[in-house]
Amino acid sequence: KLVVLGSVNADHVLQVPSFPRPGETLHGRNYQVIPGGKGANQAVAAARLNADTGFIACVGDDAFGINIRENFKMDNINIRGVKMEPNCPTGIAMIQVSDSGENSICISAEANAKLTAEAIESDLESIRNAKYLLMQLETPLCGIEKAAQVAKQARTNVILNPAPARELSDELLACIDVITPNETEAEVLTGITVTDNESAQEAANALHGKGIEIVMITLGAKGVWLSQNGRGTLIEGFRVEALDTTAAGDTFNGALVTGLLEDLPLESAIKFAHAAAAISVTRFGAQTSIPSRAEVDAFLAE
Ligand code: ADP
Repeated sequence: KLVVLGSVNADHVLQVPSFPRPGETLHGRNYQVIPGGKGANQAVAAARLNADTGFIACVGDDAFGINIRENFKMDNINIRGVKMEPNCPTGIAMIQVSDSGENSICISAEANAKLTAEAIESDLESIRNAKYLLMQLETPLCGIEKAAQVAKQARTNVILNPAPARELSDELLACIDVITPNETEAEVLTGITVTDNESAQEAANALHGKGIEIVMITLGAKGVWLSQNGRGTLIEGFRVEALDTTAAGDTFNGALVTGLLEDLPLESAIKFAHAAAAISVTRFGAQTSIPSRAEVDAFLAE
């Protein structure tokens, strides 16, 4: 069993010719509201890949919050831990995608800010009973730290995707079994700029020094630097035509934990996650881009 703890966002996406300057009004197009949020994306990825997935989160009592719980159910996610916060909007991201392919994003936590240590009291038993707990950093640290401590005591394996980047306490890092930063996040956590294999291993060693056994630094299209017991290797990704990399990291994490739940060796679990993430970058949006198990199996069989 897998438990994911994390955020839910409504992504309000607009295509723009360029980013408006202060005081300027521009005509955008193709307005879409797409389900997102790192926690939700990772839970959806795992569930679509057939992991037995429960989700701990807070949504608002708005139309999006009501609908998204139904969507989660349709993806076979156990939503007992998805709380609805009265008189509160669901978390949002305002996303502008320019014609040159750059994006500009502003997020507001809203209901996600309610996922505190007190709010997850009723979820601790499900964390204790899980084989893996997967978390990110878009919800309050007190809730994340509480969940990590409870998991550690119960020998539930803890996977942390430390995104968005921020510094973390040694106490929290000591509870983590597998960490999956990208290059920016690895630098914020360790102070080491990742530019090549040597610096990736240095950053990994710094994280091993905090008590984390397995470090996977994601390198975008290049793949992942996997380090265990101070020894690292590059696990290359798949080459695809990238259309939109939104949720690539989330799809990677959801797929990775699915592979680990199925007791795949680390390198095979990473290959599986690379395939799922590669498919997601060929499609637009967050949860709209996450593939099913059949699609990933077909991709790997090619
Ligand atoms: P994040 O999106 O969190 O910054 P990365 O950019 O490192 O994370 O990407 C995470 C994973 O997504 C990579 O390890 C890889 O599997 C996949 N990925 C990302 N970008 C591409 C791409 N352009 N082509 C193929 N796979 C990609």
